[in-house]
Amino acid sequence: MEKLEQLYEGKAKKVFKTDNPNEFIIEYKDDATAFNGEKKGSIGGKGVINNKMTELIYTMLEEKGIPTHFIKLLSDSEQLVKAVTIFPLEVIIRNTAAGSICKRVGLEEGLKLDTPIFEFSYKNDAFGDPLINDYHALAMKLATKEEIETIREMTFRINDILKDYFLEKGINLVDFKIEFGKTADGQIVLADEISPDTCRFWDVKTNEKLDKDRFRRNLGNVEEAYIEMLKRVKD
Ligand code: UDP
Repeated sequence: MEKLEQLYEGKAKKVFKTDNPNEFIIEYKDDATAFNGEKKGSIGGKGVINNKMTELIYTMLEEKGIPTHFIKLLSDSEQLVKAVTIFPLEVIIRNTAAGSICKRVGLEEGLKLDTPIFEFSYKNDAFGDPLINDYHALAMKLATKEEIETIREMTFRINDILKDYFLEKGINLVDFKIEFGKTADGQIVLADEISPDTCRFWDVKTNEKLDKDRFRRNLGNVEEAYIEMLKRVKD
């Protein structure tokens, strides 16, 4: 397959057309941003790590019956995926309170939640990815009622699988953000990535943060944390 023109460049990835209209190439970058683009930087080796980690996790999820956009790895920093239209929704699950929910409703960071919290954000940088609910999504025509139901069911299944998967690797899956897309034939699939850029990972024993919060909060050892997470996923 041939890598054709760039369709899109996001903060952490580029998307390219291929000679097959049903397939795109995603190239993972080392660029890192936080706080809606206010903080910019680069994390050495991140593109390669996130590409590989997403391959391993999406392959595992496929084996457990979750349809994803992933087709195959092409190189250290590129993967072939199904061409999808992304729903402009950031789908977030929280198992432990951290990040924005602590600021928004006053929960203490680290509080284990009795039931996971499911959130939608409207994926729109100009508005700062605001928190929305089903009614907004429907009224704004971001997805249909059936699509919202499918996305919610898939997300809770993904959370159940990922929580156990990471716990076996000594990691508390605090929260994560995923995105969904729709293929040309109408199938809803998990798209985007699952990596330390998009999840909060805390070591079960020490509570050490092994994710992008090290970059966001200038905690140091950012690259080391990404390397450690890939090692845990590979083990
Ligand atoms: N997240 C993400 N992209 C975003 C916003 C959040 O991947 O644009 C992830 C983030 O890494 C965390 C989870 O979603 O794992 C919840 O993030 P939160 O709402 O707490 O926002 P943050 O504190 O990261 O601004």
